[in-house]
Amino acid sequence: MLAPELAAICRAAFTVEPPLRPFGNEGDYLLELFHGPTAAFKDYGAGFLAAGLAALAPREQELTIVVATSGDTGAAVAAAFHGRPGFRVLILYPQGRVSPRQAHQLGCFDGNVRAFRVAGSFDDCQRLAKAVLADNELKQDVPLSSANSISLGRLLPQMAYYAQASLSHWRAHRRPLGFVVPTGNLGNALACLLVRHMGLPVGGIVLAGNANQVLAEFFAGGEYRPRPGIPTLANAMDVGSPNNFERLDWLFPDEPELRHALRAESVDDRAIEATIRASHTRIGETICPHTATAVQVLQRLRARGETGDWCVVATAHPAKFPEVVEPLVGAPVPLPPALAAMLERPSQAEPLAADEPALKALLRAW
Ligand SMILES: *Cc1c(COP(=O)(O)O)cnc(C)c1O
Repeated sequence: MLAPELAAICRAAFTVEPPLRPFGNEGDYLLELFHGPTAAFKDYGAGFLAAGLAALAPREQELTIVVATSGDTGAAVAAAFHGRPGFRVLILYPQGRVSPRQAHQLGCFDGNVRAFRVAGSFDDCQRLAKAVLADNELKQDVPLSSANSISLGRLLPQMAYYAQASLSHWRAHRRPLGFVVPTGNLGNALACLLVRHMGLPVGGIVLAGNANQVLAEFFAGGEYRPRPGIPTLANAMDVGSPNNFERLDWLFPDEPELRHALRAESVDDRAIEATIRASHTRIGETICPHTATAVQVLQRLRARGETGDWCVVATAHPAKFPEVVEPLVGAPVPLPPALAAMLERPSQAEPLAADEPALKALLRAW
């Protein structure tokens, strides 16, 4: 339906070309995906989803996007839909469990965006979002939609930067480019895999996880054992049961082939800290905790003799995580302009009990 509009949607959504640049040693590269409005890669998917939904026929009633977030997703979705006629965004985040800077970002949108700090955990937020999205009676009165990480409207646009980076590298060097992807729910890495499936010159793909070991265990030959997530310094990847794992099964019905297609490694908090510190002192690069997992994994690959060209995917700007990064590099991390502007705006979140009837009443009354 939207095929004729696709070029215009892409122009609206992909305003920033992600820089691909050398990083430290020969053959190592970095793809900076943090130049969007909220300084994390989720801006690409959220921006495309918003531009795509806006291009659909106008609705009689506003569409409310309900998003449960542990930090980055809510801000990216809010920024993408903020001020768009026909849309409202309701953010649910766990009170006290996102960083102060993340909380400020989530609450700094006015108008058609409302942020709620839920007295509960991220799982409570997700449960509330699922409950309202599954309530057909409520949805008749209040049209609702989600924007979570299994949404294809967020996943597919992420293929664009892998296609562009691998092609531009191929044109310059006539060599495939491998990618090390910081991974939580597997959305970003799956986009990379789909691009390789399409025949673009992507070499190896390695998933970099934090101390949530589920993928590292599986790709090391173990069982797939989903479990509750544990908190780490790379908090946007605190996932024990990756949402998109089923899509790997669909792409590779044959398990040995799947185990051959990808590799995965786990990086604990101590290694994240050491990598942020070492990247700063040795090569003068300041990286975020998520990106640090991938930098650490690339170092391990090189130490084992891996050759070829490899690219670390930088998923967020380090200034989003000052509490972690600044003590390690011993200096303030300058804010990118978009983030600075956001942090200057006033911020306010409304309290909400982790209670389904309360949320439903609120949606009807908005
Ligand atoms: C969401 C996020 C990730 C994890 O991406 P997935 O698509 O869930 O695997 C990694 N880094 C940052 C900064 C994120 O916000």
